[in-house]
Amino acid sequence: MPKRNLLILSNRLPVTVSETITKSPGGLVAALEGLSSEQFDLKWIGWPGSVIPDERKEEVERLLVEEHGCIPVFLSEEEAAGYYLGFCNSSLWPILHYMPSYMRYDPAWWEQYRQINQRFAEKALELAEPGDLVWVHDYQLMLVPQMVHDEMPELKIGFFLHTPFPSYETFRCQPKRNELVTGLLGADLIGFHTFGYMRHFRSTVLRLLGIESEITLIRNEKGHVTRLGVFPIGINAKKFEETLNSREFKQRLAEMRATDGDKRVVLSVERLDYTKGILHRIEAIERFLAEIDDPEEREAIKFIFVSVPSREGIEQYQELRAEVEARIGRINGTYATLRSSPIRFIHGSVEFVDLCALYTLSDVGLVTPLIDGMNLVAKEYIACQRDNPGVLILSEFAGAAGELFNAILINPYDAEGVANALREALALSPEEKAIRNRPMRARVMKYDAQKWARWFIEQLLRGRDEATAPARSQIDELADELRSAVRAQKHIGLFLDYDGTLREIERDPQAAKPNAGVRHLLEALRHRPNLEVTLISGRTSDDLEAWLGEYPFSLIAEHGAALRRSGTRAWERLDVGVSYAWKEPMLQILRLYEDSTPGSLVEEKKTSLVWHYRNTDPEFGAWKAHQLAVELGAVMGNEPVEIRHGRKIIEASAAAISKGAAVRRLLEGRYCDLVLCAGDDQTDESMFEIAAPNFVSIKVGRSPSRAMYRLPNPAEFRKFLESVLIAKAG
Ligand code: UDP
Repeated sequence: MPKRNLLILSNRLPVTVSETITKSPGGLVAALEGLSSEQFDLKWIGWPGSVIPDERKEEVERLLVEEHGCIPVFLSEEEAAGYYLGFCNSSLWPILHYMPSYMRYDPAWWEQYRQINQRFAEKALELAEPGDLVWVHDYQLMLVPQMVHDEMPELKIGFFLHTPFPSYETFRCQPKRNELVTGLLGADLIGFHTFGYMRHFRSTVLRLLGIESEITLIRNEKGHVTRLGVFPIGINAKKFEETLNSREFKQRLAEMRATDGDKRVVLSVERLDYTKGILHRIEAIERFLAEIDDPEEREAIKFIFVSVPSREGIEQYQELRAEVEARIGRINGTYATLRSSPIRFIHGSVEFVDLCALYTLSDVGLVTPLIDGMNLVAKEYIACQRDNPGVLILSEFAGAAGELFNAILINPYDAEGVANALREALALSPEEKAIRNRPMRARVMKYDAQKWARWFIEQLLRGRDEATAPARSQIDELADELRSAVRAQKHIGLFLDYDGTLREIERDPQAAKPNAGVRHLLEALRHRPNLEVTLISGRTSDDLEAWLGEYPFSLIAEHGAALRRSGTRAWERLDVGVSYAWKEPMLQILRLYEDSTPGSLVEEKKTSLVWHYRNTDPEFGAWKAHQLAVELGAVMGNEPVEIRHGRKIIEASAAAISKGAAVRRLLEGRYCDLVLCAGDDQTDESMFEIAAPNFVSIKVGRSPSRAMYRLPNPAEFRKFLESVLIAKAG
């Protein structure tokens, strides 16, 4: 089998370019090692991380491509400032981490962000062949999926968000929120670390773009389907296991034990970032230390902070560093003795083997982010508790908290709680620690980074669900059948629902008058011989008379309760003898829902009652609708009434009355060679139930239906009818 390209797009290439080029293998590189090199030709597109002078670009590009399989996207000083430090890290990062007060916004940054995303997309498009996979990573490239999809829809595009996705209330603060979400919806699959982030994303799509979704599937207006999934990332387990077994590690650990071995060590490792809760942790430590009376006892505990420098070009990061250093200075000033000081602050990064030794050495891993997409440090700490385990104290706001079930979970804003957790952790017996750690470590080592990548790619490769694929070929067969019936001058009966089938739905039902497209079609239909047309609706007979009365068609109103036969102007009732005693008590319930759901309203019809919730807050409305449907089902279970949950409506109608019953009535005593009926919502399903050899049904729209054929929307449906019934039969 020929290999496909797997194009990885991430802000940073896994290299460092100075005089020479060196590979800097981060977590993503390790993750991708798990993918089959027989199946994929891996190419990496990204920024080399520093500004490369023009005269070196050609050489750097050649070396990157030939020796590292990397394709560089070069950024100028100004671009890096606007796109990376500006939009990505001063605008998006704070918003994604629930910190709108840290967000800065400059339209020029946005322009840079758009342009750089475009540049990434173009690089991918240059390399991609139909059928290739494109995997876009993280918040720096949120516009790329749509940009690539627009040019090459045949590519499979995945996007993984390595940060949280916040609630809509936070995300809406970002001025370019619609563009960002639309950009993401170009992907075929979007992955998140947790179910919570995925839920927030779906709710944001609904609220910003008005697109409803299923739990793991979003279909945009153009019909493109984006699947959603939860894929918590793991660590490079193999590398940790190998390092723990290495001689070098044992040596480093022994050296560290010689220095700090007589102390209880509490370790924190992170980038120096305001999301990591460093200042909150310092407050908790201060409280913890203050509550120890015995200076010797205090001396026996050492806090080590490894703070990796990060985004030092941004003011908030500079301020944070200054404040962290000042506060640690104060604590050390207060509690230092001749022999030691409580906090050792390392502002720098440490080598991997040293990091493993530190993780192993420490009695407690103290991980306190205020919010964190995943937090790999927590998983790495657990991986290193193999032989003589320590205790993990973990913020409940880290994505990892959902998986590391035996950690001591804390709220980092609660300094007293964190101080208590420290005391609890330090008091645990070795047996208790081992019992806590064993299952967590097993999980961390099993669901590693490589498994994560394989899992994501498997999902990306999986074909779209059968149910979501439009039945194109079948509708073509129906078109042929209808055309030949027209050619053979067969007698055809057409039963057409109005709202949502012939005519697009409008927010205000009174605005859905027949438009030019509908009139054009109806005008043409009235002149076709051998065609008997019936228009059907849930609307009142007055509405239908006013809007469609001029046509010589049969009309069915009120979901089948009233009928005007073609060629007459008189309406006959089909509900004579039907009981409506249920309407009064039902109306009381609906009024309660109307009052408690702003934007909703009750419509009273002769044969039915309808609660409309199209204009409500979408999530609240959907929730209340579900509640109402359940309540009505329970209360009205024994009444001759049918409850339907239609498109943004809950409708209760007399059970004896239905569109299907009315169609049957009209068909009685007449013969059609072929009957075609079409509808878009639940109320039309009663027509689709009619089983007869010469009967065909079309569902307009995407929701589940028992109809035999399907078209996506009213415009396509009108086009279909025109092409088979009106266009000159050739
Ligand atoms: N790390 C590092 N050098 C160090 C200390 C830590 O490379 O000196 C690594 C650490 O091993 C972990 C990563 O930095 O893999 C931090 O990832 P995490 O998910 O905890 O937070 P992020 O920095 O992505 O917000």
